[in-house]
Amino acid sequence: MKHFALAGNPNCGKTTLYNALTGSNAHVGNWPGVTVEKREGDYKKLDELISIVDLPGIYSLSPYTPEEVISRRFIVDDKPDCVINIVDATNLERNLYLTTQILEMDVPVVIALNMMDVVEKNGDKIDIKALEKEIGCPVVAISAQKGTNLDELMEVAYETSNKPRKGFSVLSGSKIGPFIDEITKCMEEEGVPSPMYHAIKFIEGDFIEQSHSDKISGIVEEYKKNFNDEIFGSDLEALIADGRYNYIVNHYSCHKVKAVTDIKAENKSYKIDKVLTNKWAGIPIFLVILFLLFHLTFSENLFFLGVLFENVSPSFEGSIFEGLFWTDSGINSLGVILQNFVVSITDWLSGLAADGLSSAPGWVSGFLVDGVLAGVFAVLSFVPQILLLFLFFSILEDTGYMARIAFILDRIFRKFGLSGRAFLPMIMGFGCSVPAMINTRTLADEEERIATVRVIPFFSCGAKLPILTAIAGCICQLFGFPNVDIITYSMYVVGIATAIITVILMKKTVMRGKTPPFIMELPQYHMPQPKALMIHLWDKLKGYVKKAFTIILASTIVIWFLQSFTFSWKYIEQVNPVDLANEIFEDFKTDEPNIAVIEEINSEYVENGEVVVDLPTFVADYQEAEDAE
Ligand code: GDP
Ligand code: MG
Repeated sequence: MKHFALAGNPNCGKTTLYNALTGSNAHVGNWPGVTVEKREGDYKKLDELISIVDLPGIYSLSPYTPEEVISRRFIVDDKPDCVINIVDATNLERNLYLTTQILEMDVPVVIALNMMDVVEKNGDKIDIKALEKEIGCPVVAISAQKGTNLDELMEVAYETSNKPRKGFSVLSGSKIGPFIDEITKCMEEEGVPSPMYHAIKFIEGDFIEQSHSDKISGIVEEYKKNFNDEIFGSDLEALIADGRYNYIVNHYSCHKVKAVTDIKAENKSYKIDKVLTNKWAGIPIFLVILFLLFHLTFSENLFFLGVLFENVSPSFEGSIFEGLFWTDSGINSLGVILQNFVVSITDWLSGLAADGLSSAPGWVSGFLVDGVLAGVFAVLSFVPQILLLFLFFSILEDTGYMARIAFILDRIFRKFGLSGRAFLPMIMGFGCSVPAMINTRTLADEEERIATVRVIPFFSCGAKLPILTAIAGCICQLFGFPNVDIITYSMYVVGIATAIITVILMKKTVMRGKTPPFIMELPQYHMPQPKALMIHLWDKLKGYVKKAFTIILASTIVIWFLQSFTFSWKYIEQVNPVDLANEIFEDFKTDEPNIAVIEEINSEYVENGEVVVDLPTFVADYQEAEDAE
């Protein structure tokens, strides 16, 4: 029986290939000590039984994530008979980065060029023969999903597994090539397996590369002391990474010819990125975009046009659209219009219910209208704005802009000791903290993971939004500030700032490690799929409505009970402020008016001992005062 391993980037199609090869006889378990799935199954179509292991998806053989460590240990220590390196042909450059590292190990390698169906559909062409010659090991074009060429791949792999292979490095011809050769020889003399791979890892300063003999350590130390590159200084790890990419571009990916339209789309993405991820403009643009989203969702003074409205012709006043589309302070944003719409419907329903229950005992209508309906409707009134904001965030995600934000923020976070990788879970925190925290599992080291989990709650999630909006409303009312959107936006920004400050504090006090490098993929910009957006929105809506009718309904009923009954179970009538105002006003008119009380409410209502205010004005003022209270 032979052992083959499938290695490749995340999402290159490893599991698809694995399933196609092994059918249903897979054993799924975990790699020892970590919660990374391990799959092992058999391929039976050759004369000899082949056991196949699906290694975790990785971008590099660096020592930074459990997945990377598992994969490199497995290839070096368990010595599979052949490594099938799956390469996503639609993304050659990034995928071949891992390949250049696998090639350095003394193990037979076959390259499975996957997703060839997509390449063909796009009209791109790859010169497989030329690529094979450059890489120096067999390359088989397959489509794991369509099942194309899979048996051929296995035959080639089987043949290859019979011929031992020596490691080869794309760095051999580079500036540090001779040095790599020197250390490789030393390792070889000492009987280290895969000497070239270990030599390069050791030179990179890889921290899980065991210390080697004093002789080798001495040579490497000495070399590093004298090494100074004009671009990378003494950072050998960066120099090596750069060397790999240069080689890939010059020798490998040049064998792919892109269809013209493809290039156009790529150029467009590139041009947009020049602006959006610009060193200086990137963050201000992000803040402006974020502000616009909040403005469109919460503002009652859209684009600050309210000033223009001050002298608007009075013929608009009092139309049914006033309030819905605009108020004295300006035009309503989309979010506010939708909210007003929902509120006017729920108000109407409450009114109907109250009328219908007018002959019922006070506590019955109190319970149904003020308890049940008021609670549920209060939650529903937030739904339009939450959905709208969520829609905006989904659009940012689907267009590929969120990935750019992680990239932009990496530059800042790096200074404080976190990588941009940590920012992806944090951004997920805007949606919901729980999956965001679960997602930190992908982070490189324990410290970074803990730091990230600690600050995720500062990224306000959807569930916190109603509370933030309510607080923002209170602040605006208290200080007479008209722009709720600015307050809500500021709360988000303060949250992000707090997260950053927290990380700095942690880094200065309890955690002092080195920040791992960050490699991420910037997807091309594309239009979001309306269908996918709708599915997201529908899920979110369902969640809210369910909550409104369960937990929130139950709690409002409890609160209503606590508010409406004395300790001796006596119902306290809730008095309608309008009725009360009427009553007070009648008192003023008929019986001897108590001037002092009227003056207390508003001194302008009394002139020379006479009441000088009409009923509607008084009722309106009174109600406003009550509301404010
Ligand atoms: P893994 O992360 O490497 O295990 O990748 P998966 O096997 O989960 O595949 C990722 C995605 O790529 C899935 O949606 C697959 O259906 C898709 N996929 C895999 N192989 C192919 C292929 O040959 N052609 C196309 N079009 N899609 C593929
Ligand atoms: Mg997989």
